[in-house]
Formats: sequence, structure tokens, C-alpha cells
Amino acid sequence: MNEEKRVIEELRETVCRLHAELVRYGLVAWTAGNISGRVPGADLFVIKPSGVSYDDLTPESIVVCDLDGDLVEGSLAPSSDTAAHAYVYRHMPEVNGVAHTHSTYASAWAARGEPIPCVLTAMADEFGGGIPVGPFALIGGDDIGRGIVETLTGHRSRAVLMRNHGVFTIGESPKAAVKAAVMCEDVARTVHVARQLGVPAPIAPGDVDSLYDRYQNVYGQRSHR
Ligand SMILES: [Zn+2]
Repeated sequence: MNEEKRVIEELRETVCRLHAELVRYGLVAWTAGNISGRVPGADLFVIKPSGVSYDDLTPESIVVCDLDGDLVEGSLAPSSDTAAHAYVYRHMPEVNGVAHTHSTYASAWAARGEPIPCVLTAMADEFGGGIPVGPFALIGGDDIGRGIVETLTGHRSRAVLMRNHGVFTIGESPKAAVKAAVMCEDVARTVHVARQLGVPAPIAPGDVDSLYDRYQNVYGQRSHR
């Protein structure tokens, strides 16, 4: 087996396994959520097939697409969000993983078109500030992808709340994108609950910077990120 084939096989396994995390963390209903991963060193990515339930996903069912979102390998049709993932990979070379969910609390903020303010240290750690809202965009063409890229370019947040829709997250790996999706829902829920009881207090910008810097550069086991 040549090297690229082996890399794609591993990535299909990883991306298949990560979809179980969407279920485990309660981020998806039915089949409404998907994850992709860029094939290192190639203009390709792997993504969930369209309309396949998470229980039925296998590494072989994960499809391979080129950066135009066209199917390259696999017997099933790619996710209906493939164009959005492809747009992100074309325009953000540092991104190697993309996740998309309609997780409840984050999507509730998206439904109001309201960014989640940075009122928790966990938000400063993971997102370096608030979580922004992207434009309303219809599925099918490049509009969703463009909205993600325009909102997240130059922003510390790796998550965007696409207006009236749901969450897209990006990461240096598919796992990092999934982690951002999990954390986004977690803070969306906590800040929502906080607001039921009063006005959440913002964190001073200097403190947000310190928290973000520490978490991104010092915290944890660097080799296991
Ligand atoms: Zn969606």
C-alpha cells in the first residue's frame, strides 16, 4: 500500500471514530452533524457520507473528496455540507479539521443571531474571547463556507455560530475541531443558564489574553494535543 493510501485509511478511521463523540456529547439529532479531515500533503479531505446514521458509519463509508468538494473515492454521496468544508480547506491552509453540529444551546444563540460573550475562563482558554456569529447562508453553494472563513479569519475563536443554523468549528486536526464543538456547546449552555439568573459579568480583556495565552501555550501535555 502506498503512503497516501495508508494516510487516507488512518484518517478515515479517525474521522469515523470522532463522529461517535458527537453522539456521546449529545451534539447531534438523527444525522445532522458532520466531521471532516484534511489529507496531509494532498489536495483532499475525508468527510461523512450524506444521511448515514452514526451507528452505521464505518471507516470504509467515509468518503474522500477533492478541495472542490467533488467525490474522489467512496461509494456513497458526501455530506450535504461538503461544499462548506471544502471552501474552508481551500481558504484556510492551517485548518486540518472541520466539524459541524446543530447542538441545542449553541444553535439557540445562532437562532437569535447573538454572539456568546466571554464570561467564563473556559471560553477565554479555548476561544480567546467570545464566540462570533456568522451570516445567514443557504446550503448548497459557497455561501456557508465563505461565511465561516470571513468570520473566523483573524479571530481567535475556532467556532462560529452561523445565523439561524448551527455551529461550525475548525482545528489543526479533526479532533481539535470536535473538541471546539464540544466546548462551544458547553459554554453556550452555561452562559444561557447564567443569563436566566442575572447578568453574567464579562472578563477583563487583559485577563482574557492571559488565560488564552496560558491555555494555548503552557497547559496540558503538549505532545498529546
Ligand atoms: Zn447544518
